[in-house]
Amino acid sequence: MVKNITKKYAERNEVIRNRGILVLVNSILLKIQKIYFPFKVIGKPQSIQIEISTKCNLKCVMCPLTSQEKKEKYLPHLLKPKNMGFEEFRKILDSFPRAGIIRINGIGEPLLNPEIEKMIAYCTENGILSVFNTNGTMLTEEKSRGLIESGASSVIISFDGANKKTFESIRIGANYDKVLENISSLVKLKKELKSELPKISIATVYMKQNREELEKIREMFRKIGVNDFITNNLNGPPNDEFSMKNRVIEPEKNAPISCVQPWDEVYININGQISPCCYAPYLNFGNIFEQDFDSTWNNSKYEQFRKNKRSRKSDICNNCPAYSVKKPGFF
Ligand code: SF4
Repeated sequence: MVKNITKKYAERNEVIRNRGILVLVNSILLKIQKIYFPFKVIGKPQSIQIEISTKCNLKCVMCPLTSQEKKEKYLPHLLKPKNMGFEEFRKILDSFPRAGIIRINGIGEPLLNPEIEKMIAYCTENGILSVFNTNGTMLTEEKSRGLIESGASSVIISFDGANKKTFESIRIGANYDKVLENISSLVKLKKELKSELPKISIATVYMKQNREELEKIREMFRKIGVNDFITNNLNGPPNDEFSMKNRVIEPEKNAPISCVQPWDEVYININGQISPCCYAPYLNFGNIFEQDFDSTWNNSKYEQFRKNKRSRKSDICNNCPAYSVKKPGFF
């Protein structure tokens, strides 16, 4: 807990050093408004998640991209996989001059976007931290070098099994040995290039299929020398059958929900649709390509969502697999 808070402050300080006083003022405003003006927000989001690719080379069992039914029902934009162009990415980023952290992925594999290094380099030039999740299958030496040279701050690599059988039965289409080799090579290359960044984290989706393997996965990667571990609870759209069947930890009804996403973060999909977070990408609050962000940030849909969340009337938040889980170590 203390480690997490210290890390968060170190990141914030770095952003403030990079982007200046406006980011600091914004961060103070955000803290005040959550208490005194909880529904209409004066500050601007500090963390932006941008979906730069809806393509993927795998068919992971828990992913909405793998399910035609989930795509049709909740996420129709995934029906035609595509990449976001650099100019669209730049347009989004330029709309958030007070943002400090950009998460460069949504539903899809971001390394399938050939312009990802260019996007990361743009974040670096503008003093913004860049983070992305990847399935690790395409972390070739050339790609890893490109990511290090463009200044990526953090790479989160999915790894869901401590052996070939479990891993390949969850991450369908991925090769266990190859992904392991890619991660080791990235760690080595960082050392060779004497680069502190990117920070490398291993993310595991905790589910019945791998419930006994979590500690073994960590042991394996501690030896390789990654920086951090993230455990995500299995989640999906409301009433998602796969999640309900395979989740080990159920969201707890009265757990304190510490999430502040509707106040300081925003999720933007490949078509520019604005949602409050990556756990509710099917909510449509506006479109960054069609209107000014400010007109969305405090519109009636956003306001209602914040009200419902605060008064615990939001079914989405009350059942959020990320935040309504008390177990320590879960993200
Ligand atoms: S769904 Fe979860 S992550 Fe999204 S705003 Fe609600 S509590 Fe936060």
